[in-house]
Amino acid sequence: MTVSLVEDHKLEVFSKLKDYLDAHKSKFKEIKKKSNHGDLIYKLISILSKNPFANYSEISKKLKISYDELKDLNSIIRDVDFFQKLIINNGTGTKYWKNMIIPLINSRSISNFLEKKYSFPFRVGLYPGISCMYECSFCGRNYNAKYKRNALDVGIETYKKLIDEAPNDDKNRFYISGGLEPLTNPKLGEIISHLKKKNFNSSMYTNGYMLTKKFLNKNPEIFDLDSLRISFYGIDSEQYFKVTKKIKSFEIVTKNIEDYLNLKFNYNSKTMFGLNFVILTGREKDVIKLTKLMENINKKLNLKKTNNFDFLTLREDFSIFGERMNINQRETLSESIKEIENLISTSKYLSNLFVDYGFALEPLKNGILSEKFENIFVNTKDLEDFGVPQASVSVDLYGDVYLYREAAFLDRPGAKRYILGNLIKDGSMENVIKNFINKKKEINVLETDRDYLDTWDHITIKLSQQIKKNNELGFSIAESAINMEKINNILNYKHQVHFAGKS
Ligand code: SF4
Repeated sequence: MTVSLVEDHKLEVFSKLKDYLDAHKSKFKEIKKKSNHGDLIYKLISILSKNPFANYSEISKKLKISYDELKDLNSIIRDVDFFQKLIINNGTGTKYWKNMIIPLINSRSISNFLEKKYSFPFRVGLYPGISCMYECSFCGRNYNAKYKRNALDVGIETYKKLIDEAPNDDKNRFYISGGLEPLTNPKLGEIISHLKKKNFNSSMYTNGYMLTKKFLNKNPEIFDLDSLRISFYGIDSEQYFKVTKKIKSFEIVTKNIEDYLNLKFNYNSKTMFGLNFVILTGREKDVIKLTKLMENINKKLNLKKTNNFDFLTLREDFSIFGERMNINQRETLSESIKEIENLISTSKYLSNLFVDYGFALEPLKNGILSEKFENIFVNTKDLEDFGVPQASVSVDLYGDVYLYREAAFLDRPGAKRYILGNLIKDGSMENVIKNFINKKKEINVLETDRDYLDTWDHITIKLSQQIKKNNELGFSIAESAINMEKINNILNYKHQVHFAGKS
């Protein structure tokens, strides 16, 4: 379904503003003196809905108004539910607002980073894989690197200790991923069970190559996962091989998915299951074939539940030096997305399939071709202030804590510079983060380092830069256009946040 944009609500903005100013006559005398105050409010809402990372210096230049006038506009926008909803729901930045910015502000992780205060990372990636059988074309790993087998027992105990250390006010704190392929760790089940024991949700990302019937029978904990996502690398044997360099990987993974879904149904497992698919440049129509493939798997399974995939996440190849789609390719992809939406709404074998288009593709889904994901990529200068470990880190089997998610590949050239500490040597995550805060690491930041960042890292750094700049200009989070209390009510976020109206 296509969402209406702020532009479609211009008249409503004016009428809500009139109601508001009528009810608050004395409070906003100054702003009413400006004849174009309606236009300014509308433009400010529109900017924030499209570009949640704009700072107030950029905005004041764009609107040609002073910071004080901007503060007056913010205070009106903050007071009106309708304006808040427009910003977070009706612009091309909606995914950024809802999936990351609001939860990150709620977590206080960025404020803690800027104020040099300790907090346990908001999100922690556990990367237990020992090796990987693929050599994916877009993967940054060192193909020869393998963890030593004798690291296994200590590594698992380190993960358990880390889980014990974590505050349990946020069930979604941990995810299991790679680094290398998590299923190559023979003790993986112990991590899943420990997360469950400590009342954390467990989600895992895997390439699915080892997820055979035999593996599943040996590792029944897989059925206890809260969510399981298989990265799917092509729509036929040839494409799969091109990406993974492993023969028969398409056939093996497809068969594993069928076996897994059959067993999952028999065990009545509640795991949310889905696929992740990276759309490579020039292969924009593959998403249609992929959706049909999922439909055919469901037909073949012939289970009581006609669709056994809960979700499909679609992503653009976001590696910094990867090839970007041109306008024609983006148009083809936009058409393909329409087709899959249509398929999903008409086939019972795809009913209730949730497609997550991610930050990059959401605008395309709404027919907007001009918004490019790379617009939010950080530059080398942004990295000089570092990433935000209070927001996210990843931990490998040796207990090394990495600042960026795509840096945590064993022996990835240059990546060791972004190891913040070691859980075994330093004793705890708390010590690692406190050492980071107290002893600033000297790193010569290189252009290529940007490839160590995934979407999360880009967004967290962008947001921390924006909040820092706004603070310098005299705008605390509480004086911004966003009213966290209202937003949390609108979004009905469960954890009613640590944010108390003051940054
Ligand atoms: S992207 Fe994942 S599956 Fe592919 S080679 Fe890298 S670690 Fe292995």
